[in-house]
Amino acid sequence: MYFKGHQKSSFIDYPDKISTVLFTGGCNFKCPYCHNSDLVYNKGEKIEAEYIFSFLEKRKKFIDAVCISGGEATLNKGLYDFVKELKDKGFLVKLDTNGTNPRLLKSFIKDKLLDYIAMDIKAPFNKYNKVTGVMVEINKIKESISLIRESDIDYEFRTTVCKELITEDDIINIAEELKGSKRYIIQNFRDGDTILAGKGRLTPYKKEELKDIERKIKDNFIEFKVRS
Ligand code: SF4
Repeated sequence: MYFKGHQKSSFIDYPDKISTVLFTGGCNFKCPYCHNSDLVYNKGEKIEAEYIFSFLEKRKKFIDAVCISGGEATLNKGLYDFVKELKDKGFLVKLDTNGTNPRLLKSFIKDKLLDYIAMDIKAPFNKYNKVTGVMVEINKIKESISLIRESDIDYEFRTTVCKELITEDDIINIAEELKGSKRYIIQNFRDGDTILAGKGRLTPYKKEELKDIERKIKDNFIEFKVRS
């Protein structure tokens, strides 16, 4: 198992904990708004798991949690064993995923190896192919959502929104599909040099537009937040 990025400490990636954040290379989606285009194409130097474990050994007094992000981390065959070792060493583990690997999620949940799951919901089910730029097996996405909702692991579902790909009606449809979930977060698109579609191609929502959407959908969830 190796990684393509490592943020040594973060106060925002794991709720209320100090974490270190690992980024895997490679992704089976090609979301135009993705801000990790280098990771999606698996560019950059390899960071071996051994390095991460020795880093954690030195910092274990200061780090509570390890967040594993991507790319899409569940594409890595070594992920299960890596996470198991983190749990054996006493760390909290958060996994970010696009939900395309329910089989691995099921093993993680059954074996109680995750403490927090953040799953991206890319679009209403009928628009997944358009928003991700690939053919998606939507049953796998639905299965991951059910597994997460029915588990006793803390979780969030989250959607990145930009005007060209996700309309207000799309957001309302997603909120209906996820109705009753614990936590749903809308992340406004932020432009930048590393966006997959290229800088200046996509448009974020205005604050007041998101406020308006929030009023319409927030009661579908126990907790709802906008991150902008
Ligand atoms: S935003 Fe899309 S393309 Fe980028 S890492 Fe996440 S799932 Fe992959």
